[in-house]
Amino acid sequence: MSEPKYKRALLKLSGGAMSGKDNILDFDKLTDTSRVIKKCVENGTQMSVVIGGGNIWRGRTGGNVDRTRADRMGMMATLINSIALEEALTEVGQKAVIMSALDVKPVAELFDKFKAIEYMNNGYVVIFACGTGHPYFSTDTAGTLRAIEIEADIALFSKNIDGVYTADPRLDSTAVRLDKITYVEILTKQLKVIDAASAAMAMENSLKTLLFAAEDPENIYRAVNGESVGTLVI
Ligand code: UDP
Repeated sequence: MSEPKYKRALLKLSGGAMSGKDNILDFDKLTDTSRVIKKCVENGTQMSVVIGGGNIWRGRTGGNVDRTRADRMGMMATLINSIALEEALTEVGQKAVIMSALDVKPVAELFDKFKAIEYMNNGYVVIFACGTGHPYFSTDTAGTLRAIEIEADIALFSKNIDGVYTADPRLDSTAVRLDKITYVEILTKQLKVIDAASAAMAMENSLKTLLFAAEDPENIYRAVNGESVGTLVI
């Protein structure tokens, strides 16, 4: 094993990537991902995770439900996924703890930057649940916020596509994947790869984000070791 490129990382997993064909949660996928997270910790990278809730509920597609309530439901969905990930990490022998933006004791501790860092210094993976705790945000934005707060070296966003392309690769066969792109380009070209709120916050706080494919969990290990996966946003 080599010296990792990044010493502290925030990994954003989407809820959709953790679901199966017939189940809202696929524990085989969670276990595979947990094994890779554990390998990253063993190789010297402190790991924290924000998991989305899109496999269960998304506030903005909540029909006639009041948006604040719909988003609260979404935040509860992230909590369900966080508990599932805590279980999977524990099963593979990786110490894990959930810290939540909302008070849901005893399911999770309340988020506190300093406690989170202390946990990571002691070999725990910290799972940040309930997003930012506020409606009208996404878990991408929560991931960026938590990465900045805990002073992560990198935000790793695992996506359903393997990076940013010059054009939509499903519509344009000449589209090529970019190794690097700036937040300014994402914002000015209104690229949907990450939320504008997330991009603006990362840019203002000089946080790098690496976007890569969720399909292969090994990409997480490759990413923290500086191998060329996905697109780096600076
Ligand atoms: N959510 C929220 N505030 C936050 C983060 C998330 O209200 O700070 C809610 C919102 O309704 C969102 C849902 O939680 O739709 C699930 O998160 P997201 O859609 O980002 O999950 P993903 O698509 O990554 O699985």
